[in-house]
Amino acid sequence: MNLVVVSNRVARGAANEPMTGGLAAALLPVVEKSGAIWVGSSGRVRDGAQKEPFAEIEALGAGALAMLDLPAAHYGGYYEGFANSALWPALHSRTDLIRASQEDYLSYREVNAFMARALLRFQKPDTAFWIQDYHFLALGSELRDRGVTQPIGFFLHTPWPAHSTIEGVPHHRELVEAMLAYDLIGFQTRDDCENFLDYISSDLALEIDDGVITSRHGTTRAAVFPIGIDAEKFALQAAKAMSHPDVSRLRRSLNGEKLAIGVDRLDYSKGLVNRIKAFDQMWSLHPALARTVSLLQIATPSRGAIEAYGNLQSELAKLVSDVNGRHGEVDWTPIRYLNKGFSQTVLSGLYRTAQVGVVTPLHDGMNLVAKEYVAAQNPADPGVLVLSKFAGAANELDTALLVNPHDIDGMARTIATALYMPLTERRMRWEAMMAKLSAGSIQRWFADFVDALQETHADKTATE
Ligand code: UDP
Repeated sequence: MNLVVVSNRVARGAANEPMTGGLAAALLPVVEKSGAIWVGSSGRVRDGAQKEPFAEIEALGAGALAMLDLPAAHYGGYYEGFANSALWPALHSRTDLIRASQEDYLSYREVNAFMARALLRFQKPDTAFWIQDYHFLALGSELRDRGVTQPIGFFLHTPWPAHSTIEGVPHHRELVEAMLAYDLIGFQTRDDCENFLDYISSDLALEIDDGVITSRHGTTRAAVFPIGIDAEKFALQAAKAMSHPDVSRLRRSLNGEKLAIGVDRLDYSKGLVNRIKAFDQMWSLHPALARTVSLLQIATPSRGAIEAYGNLQSELAKLVSDVNGRHGEVDWTPIRYLNKGFSQTVLSGLYRTAQVGVVTPLHDGMNLVAKEYVAAQNPADPGVLVLSKFAGAANELDTALLVNPHDIDGMARTIATALYMPLTERRMRWEAMMAKLSAGSIQRWFADFVDALQETHADKTATE
């Protein structure tokens, strides 16, 4: 089989800027090994690109990376517009933040059609297409309209919310109907998959039999494939990273003080405001923890051209400064707040240095940072993960300290509990999580999806 993987952005080699998206970082090593062609945007736009897709191609392991310049006239409406100001907020249950014009929707459809045209050149008789994420809900249908009969699968990295929330997306019916051109649709969790099937039966009134939907496109299977990480590789990297200059400097600066860490894109789905408020509360309720515990919060800038993101950045900057002003001392800063990105190597060492990992999104498809924090720990003296029950990762990492990210007092208490947790309990919880991470690796996720795609397509052709 000749696999073509498609995502909005492709991950480039180590010489390029650090990757800060879960999707690109997670996919790189497996795509590299599989010999697949990975197609995505180059990050550049081009006038007149609609007419003739331009791709820069470079080798990637046994396969290749194809980087496309997207059409300049439609990029903003597609990316900042419909994908990230209509779909993203809806998928994360923030219908109040949905902003979408008809023009944005048309640009989104235009870029999906453009990508379909560009993909045709990679099509061979034994090709299977695997489309990633909410940027390309309609890409399968665009490929089918152009005569593609080969297997086409889709994986959604974000949550899929309740059907009444999806109804907040303009043209939701048209988009979900277009999704049924896929042979297989993968979700991160059982809840996401059930919400999707619920939409199919309530809004589209289509028949579903054991996760298989029948529509005018034929049949589509919906199933669950939780994404994982290469935990063993991450653990080795973390142990090595302890001598990295950035990590050594952090350790020296702590002077025996304990550290909690948060690593997130600066996004309203990540629950950053409530997290900072929980630390504020914790230092107020447990004065003994002031001076002895600080928070390192990395909040990597993301989608800065969108108003909701700019507003969040200002709100967080003010909040962090208030909290530091309230609890700080001449020689102690409670929150070290950084608006920049780090390589995964450095991150792994930072995770290992911290006694507590705080991952408290209001909604998150999976949250790879949670898994990486666990994998990076020193087995002899592991840290404690405080994890939102609304992150997909909570399904597997159920021996983390699970919190409700809307309950600030509860989070403050749980973070304090994590800081005082005895070694035996820390090890017990950590070992259980590591066992789950090893079983659900990124290699497993990739192979399971590709196998299921081939099987689903073969069954479908056999019954046609
Ligand atoms: N990441 C990174 N550098 C940073 C911040 C994050 O490489 O400065 C990586 C992190 O290691 C993780 C991914 O970006 O693999 C974030 O994935 P996650 O699922 O947690 O969230 P997303 O950003 O996809 O919503």
